[in-house]
Amino acid sequence: MIIAVDGPTASGKGTIAKALARHFGLPHLDTGLLYRAVGAQVVANGGNPDDPADALAACDFPDGLLDDPELRSEHSGGLASRVSIHPGVRQALFERQREFATQPGGAVLDGRDIGTVIAPEADVKLFITASVQARAMRRWLEMQGREIDIPLMDIEKEIAARDMRDINRADAPLRAAEGAHVLDTSKLDKDQSIAAALEAVNAATGQSPCP
Ligand code: C5P
Repeated sequence: MIIAVDGPTASGKGTIAKALARHFGLPHLDTGLLYRAVGAQVVANGGNPDDPADALAACDFPDGLLDDPELRSEHSGGLASRVSIHPGVRQALFERQREFATQPGGAVLDGRDIGTVIAPEADVKLFITASVQARAMRRWLEMQGREIDIPLMDIEKEIAARDMRDINRADAPLRAAEGAHVLDTSKLDKDQSIAAALEAVNAATGQSPCP
């Protein structure tokens, strides 16, 4: 079974994807991390994330980079959304994601274009969303937990800018795939979001809910 989990940043899609993978015993790929690694590698190479050739050259990043905790930062997310605009970068990362999605037994992938481009044949497509305010508040609380002091307004602005880039890019823009189940987590906590996603998967696959 392939489960595609798409949605904007801080919508809860990563948490939901991980929980679904655990529940169904499937491998999970956070595809945003690949774009974050490309963004970090461009900087390490002394290149410009907005330059298509520099961004493409950075797709050769070493696998070890994926374990760098710095990739989780807001700054890395911003770089990722800049390199992800280039069609060459998306093409370079396509095969790796496609292979993961089509491995025997299935997989859970989260990102922006899993249900639309990477695995349009997915058995279940979820589109996880939430208001900019709710997502900014989550990010802010997460940062506070890591003792990183950033004004809430700055996070809100950064998230809104990233949404604009992801929604308006020409290649694989962020949008719900046809037939996707849209789940708004603005008013849901973590457990409620996971429960709602699980219910949607069970409904889509005709399985009865597990306790
Ligand atoms: O999901 P995450 O916030 O880690 O993604 C970082 C950036 O990578 C996104 O803002 C988006 O521009 C890009 N991305 C993408 N396609 C994906 C996953 C992420 O374009 N499948």
